[in-house]
This record gives sequence, structure tokens and C-alpha cells, in this order.
Amino acid sequence: TQQTFANIKATDPQVDAFLHLNEDEALAQADQIDAAGISEDQPLAGIPMALKDNLVTKNVTTTAGSKILGNFKPVYDATVVQKLANAQMISVGKTNLDEFAMGSSTENSAFKTTKNAWDHTKVPGGSSGGSAAAVAAGMVPATLGSDTGGSIRQPASFNGVVGMKPTYGRVSRWGLIAFGSSLDAIGPMTRTVKDNALMLSAIAGHDQHDLTSSDKAVPNYAADLTAATSVKGLRIGLPKEFLGDGIADDVKQAILAAADTYRKLGATVDEVSLPHNKYGVAAYYIIASSEASSNLQRFDGIRYGYRAQDVKNLEDVYVKSRSEGFGEEVKRRIMLGTFSLSAGFYDAYFLKAARVRTVILNDFKAILKDHDFIMGPVTPTTAFGIGEEITDPMTMYMNDILTIPVNLAGLPGLSLPAGFSKGLPIGMQLIGRPFDESTLYQAGYAFE
Ligand code: GLN
Repeated sequence: TQQTFANIKATDPQVDAFLHLNEDEALAQADQIDAAGISEDQPLAGIPMALKDNLVTKNVTTTAGSKILGNFKPVYDATVVQKLANAQMISVGKTNLDEFAMGSSTENSAFKTTKNAWDHTKVPGGSSGGSAAAVAAGMVPATLGSDTGGSIRQPASFNGVVGMKPTYGRVSRWGLIAFGSSLDAIGPMTRTVKDNALMLSAIAGHDQHDLTSSDKAVPNYAADLTAATSVKGLRIGLPKEFLGDGIADDVKQAILAAADTYRKLGATVDEVSLPHNKYGVAAYYIIASSEASSNLQRFDGIRYGYRAQDVKNLEDVYVKSRSEGFGEEVKRRIMLGTFSLSAGFYDAYFLKAARVRTVILNDFKAILKDHDFIMGPVTPTTAFGIGEEITDPMTMYMNDILTIPVNLAGLPGLSLPAGFSKGLPIGMQLIGRPFDESTLYQAGYAFE
């Protein structure tokens, strides 16, 4: 733990992955673990990790990357935070993110812009850019991120680390500052598939505080890896839309090479189709923004964090606190969501988007009926330059064309390194059946 802080202090001034460090608490926890000893059934005990700063931590500042929560100290720990504490992992700090997890580059943070661990002129992806860069730069072996439309998988891909977005409901969302509640998922970001599997087993499971959390038994994902590492006989679908227009050639080549690797390992890879994939981004921005506009109503200048000064009346408290506390992108989403949910436009927008969502789910179901999983790229390109896309929301939104449909369908998606191009990592995405994270880990393990 001491060495971890030394590494962070040497490296983070260049990377800017952290918003907050818990040095005193972490060293005290490490001392306690040293004194008590580690038992064999605690594979994660004493391992340092970091948390995306939209996971609430008791008495530790939790900002969600927003000025409106700049000095917010929660009174409880998120369920995943408690679970990692029970596993005796040591939380060293909180990582940077796009404000309220809205973004794909971490440039929407109110506090700082995190850099890609491989090239400091490139974005780390987002919104879990701090969590991805912290692992890739060797500062911590593991972090937690959250993924509403790609925010674990895309930064994992841009930084060459392993990121899992579990099935919707596999991990309790209690204590995750909500963005799109029907899409949000918490998952691990690590250097290896096995580390990732260990961490998912530690955080998954039913929680009485989150009624959407599943009571299905939690597998020992890592133990299963040693028992069955083979992908022999598995059927893999490779959607033709995932290698179509807009996907960069270097990314395409890496995925085709990965398909060959799976064939050599004894799997079959078939071309399949997700015909409605192209509507995913449009449906997502209506659904996610609608849910966000509702979730963000609680930030009113009264109950949490930032309150504007010089106010004349209650209305003024709301308007000024929100105007000054929220950033541009968050305001854009609130306006989009409020519009989509308004009485006159609900049928044309929200309801239509909800129907598109079902159609996309059915596309996945049709493939997964006779395929064990789907493979493809995570992102259309490798990491882009800082400042390059931030002025153009539409281009930024299109980054997530390959990850968003997976959230709309609630399926598990694993992002893992699959190559390099011009010094930047290329990621591969494996998409599975609901609650079949095990197959994805096995296939990732066999590949890596
Ligand atoms: N980039 C997408 C967005 O801005 C997804 C973010 C996420 O998964 N939290 O909404």
C-alpha cells in the first residue's frame, strides 16, 4: 500500500486519474490486515484498488465529477464498496470521470482531464477514464467503473485493460449515483481477466437495497477459469455491422485476427447480423437522458452540495444552484430528457425509443439462441486526441455505437486488449447471454 501511494505520487501528476486519495485510512487498513494475517479464502485481501467517484463512500468526498457535489461527504458506503471492504481490499482513492458519467473522454469532469496512460495527448475514454488510466499506468491493479452506454468498456479499450460490464442486475447499484437507472451497471477494471473475475465474484449478488439486483447465485468466476479454459466447440457470432462503415481499418484487422485465434482454439466464428444496431445510439440518448433528467432532480441546492449565493427566493435557489452547479453536457441531457418525457412528445420520443430497445434486444436474442457469445470491436477507433471531439457532441456520441446496444439489452459485455496500432491499444468486446459472465471470462482467458 505504501508503494502504491509512492507510485501514484510519481505517476499521477502526468495522468490525472485521481480526484482524491485516502492515504491515512488506507495505510491504517493495511496495518490491520498485516496484524491479523490473510486467510486463503480471501484472495483479494490487502490488494489496493480505487473507486470511480460516482460510488458513494462514507465520510469521503464523492463528487461524481460535478461542481454541484464538490464538497459532498456521503453518510454511507455503496454496497460494492462495503463488499470490497469485506473482501479486505484497500481503497486508495477516488478516480476521475465525466460529470455524472456523461461522456466518452473524461473531458466533461468539472475538475480535470485525465490523460490516456499510453499517450498523454490522447483521451483515456470515458466516463470511467480515471479508473482505466489508473490501472493502465500501473498505479493500482484494479478499480471499479460504471457503464451506462460503454463507460467501462470504452475506456478499458482505449487504455489496454480488461473491463467487464456485467448483466443488468448482477451487481447492486445501491450507492451508485444514478445516471440512467435501467442501464447503469458497476463492474471491475483490471490488468487481467482473472483479476477481473475475482473482483466480480466479490461485488456481485442480491442486495435488499436494490430491488433490481438478482438473487441468482454468484459463481466463483476465477475458479471456473482453471477448470475450463477451453473455447473448443463454442459458437461465436461476429455481426457484420460491427465491421462495417465507420470502423477504422486497424480495429477491423485486430478483430479479424482475434476471430482467427478463436478458430485455431477450436471455436467456430460465424457472420451474423444485428440489423437494428444503428438505431441504438438514438434510442439510448432519449432513454438515458430521460432517466437522467428525473434522477438529477434531487440536486436542487437544498439537499446536497452546492448552493448558489445571492438568491431572492426558493425558485432562485433551484435555478441558480443548478445553473452554476451543472456543466454544459449535463444541462444538455437534462433538456433533452425533459423534452422527451413532456406530455406532448412522450409518444413520439420516449415510447418510440422504448420500442426500439425491445427490437434491439430481440436481435441479440436471435443470435444468442445458437451462439455462445458475440464478438466485435469495442470502439470504432483507437483513442482520439484531447480536445478533438469535445466541441461536437454528435461525433462524441457515435463513439458508443458498439457498446450502447449491450446496455439497452441488459447483457454482459467484456472488453479486453486485442492489439496495438501506432502505440495505442485496440480492444475487443465479447457479449454474452444474460448472467453468463462465466463464458465471457473463459473466452477472454483463453484469448489472453
Ligand atoms: N458515453 C455515453 C454517454 O455519454 C455512455 C456513458 C456511460 O456509460 N456512463 O452517455
